[in-house]
Amino acid sequence: MCGIVGYMGAKNAKDVVLSGLKRLEYRGYDSAGICVVNDEDVNIYKEKGKIKALESLIGDVEIEGTVGIGHTRWATHGAPTQTNAHPHQSYSGRFTLVHNGIIENYQELKDQYVPKVERLSETDTEIIVHLIDAFSQKGYETEDAFRQVLNLLDGSYAIALIDREDTSKIYAAKNKSPLLAGITENGENMVASDATAMIHVTNEFKELRDLEYVVFDRDTLTIKNYDGEIIDRETYTVDWDISSVETGQYDHFMLKEIDEQPTVMRNIISQYQDEDGQLNIGKELDGLSVPRRVHIVACGTSYHAGLVGKSIIENIARIPTEVHIASEYMYANPIIEDDVLFIFISQSGETADSRGVLNQVKEQGHRTLTITNVQGSTLYREADYKLLTHAGPEIAVASTKAYTAQIAVMALFAIYLEAEQNLENNIDMFHELRTISTAMEQLKDMKDKAKDIVDEYLTGVRSCFFIGRQADYNVVIEGALKLKEISYIQAEGYAGGELKHGTIALIEDGTPVFTVITDPQIAKNTRSNAQEVEARGANTCTIVAKGLDREGDAWVLPDVHPLLTPLVSVIPLQLISYYAALQRGCDVDKPRNLAKSVTVE
Ligand code: GLU
Repeated sequence: MCGIVGYMGAKNAKDVVLSGLKRLEYRGYDSAGICVVNDEDVNIYKEKGKIKALESLIGDVEIEGTVGIGHTRWATHGAPTQTNAHPHQSYSGRFTLVHNGIIENYQELKDQYVPKVERLSETDTEIIVHLIDAFSQKGYETEDAFRQVLNLLDGSYAIALIDREDTSKIYAAKNKSPLLAGITENGENMVASDATAMIHVTNEFKELRDLEYVVFDRDTLTIKNYDGEIIDRETYTVDWDISSVETGQYDHFMLKEIDEQPTVMRNIISQYQDEDGQLNIGKELDGLSVPRRVHIVACGTSYHAGLVGKSIIENIARIPTEVHIASEYMYANPIIEDDVLFIFISQSGETADSRGVLNQVKEQGHRTLTITNVQGSTLYREADYKLLTHAGPEIAVASTKAYTAQIAVMALFAIYLEAEQNLENNIDMFHELRTISTAMEQLKDMKDKAKDIVDEYLTGVRSCFFIGRQADYNVVIEGALKLKEISYIQAEGYAGGELKHGTIALIEDGTPVFTVITDPQIAKNTRSNAQEVEARGANTCTIVAKGLDREGDAWVLPDVHPLLTPLVSVIPLQLISYYAALQRGCDVDKPRNLAKSVTVE
């Protein structure tokens, strides 16, 4: 959640840090602040609310300086006020620090090391910076004081620190909160919570792992462990550019990302297909023998993608597959057979609940595979095997293109498992994904239809239902989640046949019920379910595959392979959610109470 940026270079640090913070806005935050230094002149600006409020506070003041740190805060200790916003300064004024995360033992540390220091804020963070000052006054050099304090902290943190007495360096460290170093050859280095916040400066990065810190100036960047030993870390390049982290001609990232889905499908094809048209996924999975069972573990939209993945893996590779919610699985004391492959799905690769399970099952000796959009992320690093979804940065909090990319990559993984078992192949997956890409192109251009549906079915309503069976059920729960997330309409996704076992009691005159029908074998059953609710006054809107459509259906979907229908049926649901949120004046990309990557359990 929330984010930090630290920059040192030749450019105006205020501008670089503020641009970085804006790219981190999607993570959710309630206040923001920056510190820019010009020699020994330390300028701190902080404000509650959005970065815009911070910018208004700064106004026309020219802040010179090429060294800076910045922060977006998601309050955990103390209300989101200007005083509690970061950066925080030490009692002597020498050190300035920003921090994401939670210091669990801050009270003990305060009592033991700085009992007399008066806290100015209610944050746990403030104690860290006082401790560094206290150690420095004991005679430690700044780096040593920093390391001494890091060794005392319990909890999660990404930290950046500036020392007024030597502003040629920035110190940063991480444990269980994301942080990454960005490097250049032309006298600029930086750190930030993710790569998108640095892409305007560089696309070359170095991972930082838990319990490591980094010291950098303009020309050098050194990573060390908490014993002070230097760690040699390779640099990697990300092929994103600045346009992938800006809205361009779109009003919102969400709509841009919905529209990018056909391109993402083509990108996945080109990443995983060799020149002869064959699957080229094996090198990523080198040494992975076919498991007897698969357990997919994920949260939110990735969990919904996992449900679709289960049906694809079982149908194509014939391997029994279970799907679990990470936060439930962690405490379930599950019975796990031998030879299970655990698949973790996470857009950001930082999802704390999934990471909890990953650590548990690794300790038990199970094999792990992460499917993620972010190379170098925690789940990417910590799993035995990894597959990238190649969706490009997803900035809107509500996931769209990451969901369809996760499903497409699982479909290719299913083909891989099928081939490894010498099973007969009945599906040309690359051809099918190309067909999907074309179908997505058609659907994304039907925005007027989505707007009309919103006007007709969702104007002024407080709740609605989505129903479907089998693959369509997997999609309607995702559609309901999308609508809830960004429009705040209460939406329930239900298995069509299950509705009459209780929930139908909620159907009233005019209750909107969205029905998705793509499977010919059960189309009749779902139609009956729609009629049952219609008979009780529901306002039904049917989204249906070509060939199964009837007069009066709202949206007819192009024909695609039956196992992959979720990749197309989800698009109308994404668009409907988007326009419903817009109609209600909601903050589409940054819905209330939500963060893009949920890095706390
Ligand atoms: N725990 C700190 C605070 O409440 C940091 C919160 C954050 O992650 O932004 O200020």
